[in-house]
Amino acid sequence: MLKHSILLILLCTANLSAPLYAAKPPNIIIILADDLGYGDLSCYGHPTIRTPNLDRMAAEGMRFTDFYVAACVCTPSRAALMTGRLPIRIGMAGLSAPGHRDVLVPKDTGGLPLEETTIASALKTKGYATQCIGKWHLGHTPQLLPTHHGFDSFYGLRWSVDQEPNKGIPKNASARLDQKLEWWNDALLRDDKIIEQPTDLSTLTRRYTAEAIHFIEANKGRPFFLYFAHSYPHVPLFRSKDFEQHSLRGLYGDVVEELDWSVGQVFATLKKEGLDQNTFVFFTSDNGPWLTKDLAGGSAGPLRGGKGSTWEGGMREPGIARWPGKIPAGVVMHELACSMDLFNTCLALAGVAVPKDRVMDGVDMTPMLLGNGHSAREVMFYYRKDQLYAVRKGHYKAHLVTYDGYSPQPPVEHDPPILYDLNSDPSERFDIAGEQAEAVADIMREVEKHKRELVVGKPQF
Ligand code: MG
Repeated sequence: MLKHSILLILLCTANLSAPLYAAKPPNIIIILADDLGYGDLSCYGHPTIRTPNLDRMAAEGMRFTDFYVAACVCTPSRAALMTGRLPIRIGMAGLSAPGHRDVLVPKDTGGLPLEETTIASALKTKGYATQCIGKWHLGHTPQLLPTHHGFDSFYGLRWSVDQEPNKGIPKNASARLDQKLEWWNDALLRDDKIIEQPTDLSTLTRRYTAEAIHFIEANKGRPFFLYFAHSYPHVPLFRSKDFEQHSLRGLYGDVVEELDWSVGQVFATLKKEGLDQNTFVFFTSDNGPWLTKDLAGGSAGPLRGGKGSTWEGGMREPGIARWPGKIPAGVVMHELACSMDLFNTCLALAGVAVPKDRVMDGVDMTPMLLGNGHSAREVMFYYRKDQLYAVRKGHYKAHLVTYDGYSPQPPVEHDPPILYDLNSDPSERFDIAGEQAEAVADIMREVEKHKRELVVGKPQF
């Protein structure tokens, strides 16, 4: 309790002198890693991966211990981040029925519906320059690319880096540590045109970074929104020559350390251009580590499970916010927050109203970020495909269904639900449903309320 009070005092004194929003709305940068785990950064406790730039970002800003994404795989997680809405509401959750998936694959023709408002399309209404760099994965037919969802330009891949394999490559080639460029035939796009195929995947992080620097420099005179969605450390893993044998953690560590270098380049550019004080930057990942890729997959640290699972490791992510002079420095934040909240937060920072004609699942994080309030988020719903698997309220989490990602064992239903106290048991090892009947009942009331109100969107793929 004392610790909490000290934190509050620190938060309250850090920002009251500054107006919430400068005359010019802030620049906004969201940096999204792909399949990076909760335990993969040194500021989240990894013993052998060095991430000095992200560690500095955390030291100069706010590091979340309880930051979530809205789905345990790429496509629905990104759809939710971009729109502030649960994937199931917008047809982007995928289906549990046999033969269906929850990520877009090249043969699909659907994607994020054009009537959805994205962060980019909302910020465009305030004159923001907008660019998407990196992995999109929200629809790859020409009319669903980022340039049709509010982005002025796009430079990157349409989907995951493993989705264009050449024929005849080894089984489970994506997990191999002896990667070969000739196994992959990825197309690199600028806007809606393929500009390189096969893409040199070893220079992808470096070239994305050069593009980001160019975008920041070219738009320094106006507000901008950069959605910088790295393709790694999703498998197959590649890094540039400068990062070969760079990390004690091996290839995976090399790749993460190059991402960290990239973050450092973004901050160096902001500083050089005099934009540091007027730019909000948020770093996170789209889902947990792909544990079945062995050494080519990451780590969820103390959390149970990984990608494809609604255990904490699948959906709790590193989350770091930085905005010098506005977000207090060196804060470790234990309140609940979610990637969907970035939608409401970015709109609030830009002075854009959140759409009123639809149900929003995000909440505005600015009171918590700027140090004059708490998170408005009390509840976190954990969906896998179109089925609700778990619910967190406060520090209790009830599982209705559990599944280990990519396991041949089918999902296990729990009726009555099992319950964990995530404060005392973040690894979800000890079921306390028997001792905490009221906590289970309270969460089940949230489930009933949620189901009564839920309108399911037409599946898009
Ligand atoms: Mg991913």
